Amino acid sequence: GATIELENLTKRYPGNPTPAVDCVNMEIKAGELVVFVGPSGCGKTTTMKMINRLIEPTSGRIRIDDEDVTDMDPVKLRRKIGYAIQSSGLFPHMTVAQNIALVPRMTGWPKGRTDARVEEMLDLVGLDPGEFRGRYPRQLSGGQQQRVGVARALAADPPVLLMDEPFGAVDPITRDHLQDELIRLQHELHKTIVFVTHDFDEAIKLGDRIAVLRERSHIAQFDTPEAILTN
Ligand code: ADP
Ligand code: ADP
Repeated sequence: GATIELENLTKRYPGNPTPAVDCVNMEIKAGELVVFVGPSGCGKTTTMKMINRLIEPTSGRIRIDDEDVTDMDPVKLRRKIGYAIQSSGLFPHMTVAQNIALVPRMTGWPKGRTDARVEEMLDLVGLDPGEFRGRYPRQLSGGQQQRVGVARALAADPPVLLMDEPFGAVDPITRDHLQDELIRLQHELHKTIVFVTHDFDEAIKLGDRIAVLRERSHIAQFDTPEAILTN
């Protein structure tokens, strides 16, 4: 795992006087699973994108293991962070296998090891490699696309996982299995995981700590599920 620190993190989008994220401070411990819960539009996705450096903060800092992400080499960043999103973000012109292989190949894994890893990841998310390896994203259901998105995020074995409503379209039985797999990865491999959901039950099941967010990502509560449930 790796520590993640957000310091006075702020994002203003051009043309919008109200910041999407306003001065957020948070420390996430190595190997911790933190869930962000909050209403639509409160800045959860914006925060996740800033941590993954898909967008730049207006001000403030993000440090992973004491290193500012702004100074981090892009390939190193890809190796550190796996990112799974609601819309899966798969590249449409690439097969399932090519999508999953992308980050491992980019970070220098040899082909044989990558191929084996693709099979392993498809098994993990419950998709038969023989059936799904060669398909294109458009040939998959929404839930299957999300599962491939999760497989891709995990493929290069990153110490940090950012998951932005990754199971929204997945059927309940598979979702339950994937939630258990996530907890296992965290416990056995000490991944640091930031998980966004608007599903309170999912937050309670997964979180070591839950950040209850209000507008502009103001942190209303940041505590264990037990403490949140008794408050
Ligand atoms: P959440 O993930 O919690 O639903 P978002 O981070 O997507 O929230 O959005 C936070 C706020 O920022 C919302 O008010 C949204 O309308 C605004 N916003 C998000 N993306 C952009 C953008 N690209 N340009 C302008 N405003 C945006
Ligand atoms: P852009 O070129 O638009 O800045 P990227 O090339 O970084 O975006 O990413 C393209 C797509 O891949 C996006 O949908 C993004 O959400 C997704 N993506 C980015 N980083 C990762 C990652 N580490 N793992 C999986 N998907 C990612």
